[in-house]
Amino acid sequence: GRRGEVVLEARGLRKAFGGLLAVNGVSFALRRGEILALIGPNGAGKSTTFNLVTGALPPDGGQVFLFGKEVTGLPPYRVHPLGLGRTFQHPHIFPEMTVLENAALATYARTRAGFLQVLFGLHRKEEARALATALEALRRVGLGELAWERADRLTAGQQRLLELARLLASGAEVLLLDEPGAGLRAGEKRELAKLLLALAREGYSVLLVDHDMDLVMGLADRVVVMNYGEKIAEGTPEEVQKNPLVRAAYLGE
Ligand code: ADP
Ligand code: MG
Repeated sequence: GRRGEVVLEARGLRKAFGGLLAVNGVSFALRRGEILALIGPNGAGKSTTFNLVTGALPPDGGQVFLFGKEVTGLPPYRVHPLGLGRTFQHPHIFPEMTVLENAALATYARTRAGFLQVLFGLHRKEEARALATALEALRRVGLGELAWERADRLTAGQQRLLELARLLASGAEVLLLDEPGAGLRAGEKRELAKLLLALAREGYSVLLVDHDMDLVMGLADRVVVMNYGEKIAEGTPEEVQKNPLVRAAYLGE
């Protein structure tokens, strides 16, 4: 079934920058196989929430649980091996490496050999395994044919897919995507939506951050809406669209 156990939970997260409460008491839960969208106007606190959950920023208050284990305040390199992977608003791609090498980076990091040893050819078997896993992930996102191209040959949309392939190759089951639709053409957005829905059906869990209500409408099971650092609504896309607080935040009604 689509809805499984809670895989990621945020409880009362808080973060201040100087006198500004960027995130103020935000809670939500993501279940296995679910697509949860975190939306809100610019400056609402979405990216900060994201960074608190991935460990990129330490919270001033609140807790984060991953697969029931508390990970509050742990740095990303300790959180990611537990099965959480993220993409960035601006893709982190190594332009002179091949698409395949880019996709394999997270897998290299996971091997016992370590990235540098693999890079210098000390562990051929590990390298072959990492590349095979990466190639499979690339096929999954529709980039299999481009595996041996240089990464800077990819369009902006393809680079986003490459980041997603890297997450899949890393073995992450909880996928946190920051503005996955940014820079994508309409057709590419539809392909991305189809892919994310297929992944969720297989048991991947997706938390995506976006300010584009249209993108999340056909995609998210549930939506958390933020404004001025606070959660102002939560529900199905239909429910939050009808919510007067949400309409006010978006449209100034
Ligand atoms: P969103 O992603 O929803 O657009 P952010 O989480 O990026 O919002 O930002 C929330 C608020 O916190 C904004 O007012 C922003 O200017 C502020 N902010 C974000 N990061 C920092 C930072 N590192 N230092 C100071 N202020 C920040
Ligand atoms: Mg942001």
